[in-house]
Order: sequence, then structure tokens, then C-alpha cells
Amino acid sequence: MSSATSLFEGQVTGGTRACVGMLPPDVLRLRASRRRQMYAAQVVSYSLGGLVLLIYAWAGTVPITIPSSYFLCGLTLTGFFAALSETNVNDRFEDHYLTIFQIACNVALQLGFLVAAPEIGFAFLSVLFLVFGFGALRMTSWQAAIAWTLTTLGLVPIFLFTNIPIELPVSTPLERLAAMLAFVLTIGQCAFVGLYGSSMRKMLLRRGIELKAANKRIEELAELDELTGASNRRCIMRMLDEEIGRARRTGAPCSIALIDLDWFKRINDAYGHPTGDEVLRTFAITMFANIRPIDKFGRYGGEEFLLILPDAPPHGACRMLDRLRAIIADLDWSAFSPGMRVTISAGVATFRADENPDAFLARADSALYTAKAQGRNRIASA
Ligand code: GH3
Ligand code: MG
Ligand code: MG
Repeated sequence: MSSATSLFEGQVTGGTRACVGMLPPDVLRLRASRRRQMYAAQVVSYSLGGLVLLIYAWAGTVPITIPSSYFLCGLTLTGFFAALSETNVNDRFEDHYLTIFQIACNVALQLGFLVAAPEIGFAFLSVLFLVFGFGALRMTSWQAAIAWTLTTLGLVPIFLFTNIPIELPVSTPLERLAAMLAFVLTIGQCAFVGLYGSSMRKMLLRRGIELKAANKRIEELAELDELTGASNRRCIMRMLDEEIGRARRTGAPCSIALIDLDWFKRINDAYGHPTGDEVLRTFAITMFANIRPIDKFGRYGGEEFLLILPDAPPHGACRMLDRLRAIIADLDWSAFSPGMRVTISAGVATFRADENPDAFLARADSALYTAKAQGRNRIASA
């Protein structure tokens, strides 16, 4: 019978008919290998079935032709589908396992043997559960409806229009052994299918959670500056628009500060660009450690950063910035290089209801220019 692994693989990788042709060769190879596993599982399943029938033949319940022909028919059927698979015919179909055809053929085979050897008919009937168990892993609801209808159409005449006695004899120890094996093996294979289905569900759930986390990370990365971990320019500008919108709606004050590292070119020149990068990173970490949770901090460009201070009036914003300035200036930068000093200058502006973001930023920028002109390591207010 069909392997659950392969049946599910098709659900994961199977696409629509239109995109099958576009599947990369490695996916096609993977699908073919999954199908091979499925056919191998079918051969094992028919071998086990044949073994049970062989015991019945040994017990004298059925002629030896029944186990041998059952095994050969199973092998031929599996071989036929395997040949289709190996010639890549399956890849032309949306369901590359050809599930509905496999179910129809396997059910027909069991019903054929039910008629041929009704004296052990229950052994073949029990295999129908297995056929549908595997099929359910892969079938769509309409395919399941078709398979069920076809099976019913097969069973109705056998049960209602004939009076062949369908039995499962258990009168001798060998027959009891064969009957027990028929059920035990079928139940075992059904349990395997069920467990496989549940493990696949768990795997899909885990993959879903992982995918969600990965998407979240991608979103975060798309919004973060790689070097400093601060929001990137696109993100901080969007945040500025949002905060301006909020300030307009609520009338709450909103201040911003354009912060620029002083003489940063000299730091690069004196200690090297990699050290300059480390200084930028340390600056950003220090900023994050000292701003409020509601503040937004992003890299505006180069060694220039934008800090958004929601609900901060002009004086409060200047006080906050001066505190940050002092923290940076007092930081022990000698770990990077003895005698190194890093300071910042900032231009602070508070939003005016009648201005647009560009004008707002321009005022902060001009205040920053003033701070630089006044000697750096200081805060100027617009
Ligand atoms: P001022 O006090 O007037 O701002 O002087 P400054 O030297 O900081 O200003 P300037 O604009 O002349 O130089 C900025 C320097 O920042 C130049 C550039 O190489 C450096 N820089 C910009 N981005 C990075 C970066 O990502 N890493 C490093 N290491 N340096 C950067
Ligand atoms: Mg600078
Ligand atoms: Mg600059």
C-alpha cells in the first residue's frame, strides 16, 4: 500500500498543474524518490498480505493460486504505477501520486479477490480500510467522495446481488493464525498511517510557527539598520509620520532631536573605520539603554541619528538630550583606544501644528547646525 511519507510529500511540494512544469529539478527528483518509497511500501504490504494468504493455502482453505496470484497482481499493479512514475508521467498531474487511480485499482484488486476467494473474504475487506487510510492522507474531499462511491458501487453487487458466502474461517489452528495475522497486520499498518498523519500535522504546525518567526525576523531586519541595530531611515521616517499624526490628533507635544557625532571623521581617520563602526554601535546601544520605551531612535544617515520623543515638550526634550549628551561624553571610550573621546551635538525641535515633516526636520537640522557652530558637545533648540 502507498507510503504515507510520499503521500504527504505531495501535499507539501505538489503544485497546480500550471506550476508543475516550473518545478526545479531537485524538487522533481525528491518527488520521484518519495514515490519510489511509496511503491516499496506497497510491495512490502502485498508481500505481507501474500504471506497471510499462503498460510490459508497451507491450511487448505484456499488453493495456492490465490496467494501467488494476489502477490503477482499486487506486484504488477505497483510495477505499473512505478513505471509511470519512472517515466515522469506522474509529474504531468497536479496530484503526482495519482492517488485516486491508485485507490481505484487497489480497491478493485481487493474486490476481485473477495469474489475469487470469498471463503477468506474478510481478509480482503479489511485491506480496504488500509487503502482508504492511506488515501485520506492525500485525497481532497471530492476525491474521497469519488473513491468512496466507486468502492460502494463495487461492494453493492457483491453483497446484494450475489449470495457468495463471505467468510473468515477460524476452525483450525492455522486458519486462526492466518486470521489473526490478517487483522494484526492490517491494524498495524492502519496505526502506522494514523501516527504518520499526526506526526505530519505536528511537523506542519512546527513549520508554521517557524515560518511565522522567520517572517517576523525578516520584517524586523527590513526595518533595522544593520550596523547599529537602530531603526533604519525608512522606518524612523515612517515612525515620524505616525508620531506627527498622533500629535495632530491628540494635541500632545512631540519633539525630535537630530543627533550627530562630533568630529567623527577624525575618529575614523585616527583609529580606523572598523573602530568607527564600533563607536557607532556603542553609541546606539548607550542611547537605547537611556531613552524611554516610547521614544523612537533611528539612523538618519552616516553618523547622524534621529530621536523621536513623543509627549515631550521643548524644555523636557532639551533636558533629556542634555542628559544623553552628558552620558555619551562621560562614557569611558578608552577601551577602544587610550585617550579616545566621543561627543555628540543635537538639534531639538518640537512639532508645530501647521508644519509638515520636512519643515519639522529642517528646524531640527538648523538647530543641530547651531550646536555645531557653537562649539559641539552641546544641544541647541529650534
Ligand atoms: P562634525 O562634528 O561637523 O559632524 O564632523 P564630522 O567629522 O563628524 O562630520 P563629517 O560629515 O565631515 O564626517 C562624518 C564621517 O562619518 C564621514 C564618514 O566617513 C563617517 N561615517 C559615516 N557613516 C559611517 C559608518 O557607517 N561607519 C564609519 N566608521 N564611519 C562612518
Ligand atoms: Mg559628525
Ligand atoms: Mg554628520
